[in-house]
Amino acid sequence: MSEYFGNIKTGAVTIATGMGITLKHFFNAMHRKGDAGVDEPGYFGQVDGLCTLQYPREVIPTPKNGRYRLYNNIEDCIGCGQCDRACPISCISIETIKVAADDLALCGKTSDGQQKKFWLPVFDIDVAKCMTCGMCTTVCPTECLVHTPVSDFSEFDRSNFIYHFGNLSRLEAEAKRRKNSELQAKAQAEKEKKAAEALKQSNGGESGESN
Ligand code: SF4
Ligand code: SF4
Repeated sequence: MSEYFGNIKTGAVTIATGMGITLKHFFNAMHRKGDAGVDEPGYFGQVDGLCTLQYPREVIPTPKNGRYRLYNNIEDCIGCGQCDRACPISCISIETIKVAADDLALCGKTSDGQQKKFWLPVFDIDVAKCMTCGMCTTVCPTECLVHTPVSDFSEFDRSNFIYHFGNLSRLEAEAKRRKNSELQAKAQAEKEKKAAEALKQSNGGESGESN
């Protein structure tokens, strides 16, 4: 009989203890952690208070050294392609066009004074595939390719995840390619002309010697 009442007592104490803990959390959750919200230093160190965020009105701040969505400051990109080669999943696509000698000033220099030698009609990053490993940003010699703190960028259309950073339109790229082809053809013609003149001179010299 005493065991019977002992078990009832143990059950009652257990329920009371459990309810005490539940009620403590219930009343704690009636106020927010801190006053300044998630921006408050030590917010996540606070034990008491409601921790549910009212997303998207409130978001967890991203750390300053976090690796999130990529951005290429194309003004500083020299088109070296190192990021593309370093990417383990090939989510960077680059196309370059050599800058003609009379276009070098127009193409400009990077912010550290390096002459840019390539136009970049295509510099695309498929951010849906990107796993933000940071290998591309690590090898970038001009540090123009960087991670931003933006971590939330959902889209309805998959194609919107391909970010375009190129610095030429399709028509401009066609014009630059045409110009390069014409310059190459001109240089080739001059080379052939010089070779023909040299051959003619050497033939004339030989015939003069033989006379
Ligand atoms: S962060 Fe990694 S996965 Fe993303 S583009 Fe750079 S190298 Fe590729
Ligand atoms: S490594 Fe940097 S400079 Fe080179 S192509 Fe990539 S983003 Fe441009």
